[in-house]
Amino acid sequence: MTAKLSAPRKKAGTKPDDKKLDRVVAQALQARDKRMQGYREQALKVLPWICGRCAREFSHENLHELTVHHKDHDHDNNPPDGSNWELLCLYCHDNEHSREIDAVASDDAARDGNTDNATYKPFANLKDMLAANKK
Ligand SMILES: [Zn+2]
Ligand SMILES: [Zn+2]
Repeated sequence: MTAKLSAPRKKAGTKPDDKKLDRVVAQALQARDKRMQGYREQALKVLPWICGRCAREFSHENLHELTVHHKDHDHDNNPPDGSNWELLCLYCHDNEHSREIDAVASDDAARDGNTDNATYKPFANLKDMLAANKK
């Protein structure tokens, strides 16, 4: 818990333009989403919709619970024949990554599944502060 909200303004020079930073982050997320969309679609085309761990089968209704895992953990390595992909259900994918979370930056899990966690916290806080100021 950070007790008091008397957060002093960042010293001039440390963060020149929050809005610009905001935009850059948004763009990066967008590009990432797009890329993710690309290989996910491709993976679902070439691989059977079955979790590679628990063998659960998927259909259009629950397809969103099926995720694409990169065997070598390199999200830029996307051979179209699917040799670097493994389809895993959310749970098995989670397990897969929690086992090696120390070795591989949790980045991987974030990219495959839920996109924005940690990075946006400061911005959310800033928004609250701005809103409070306006009143
Ligand atoms: Zn599974
Ligand atoms: Zn993965």
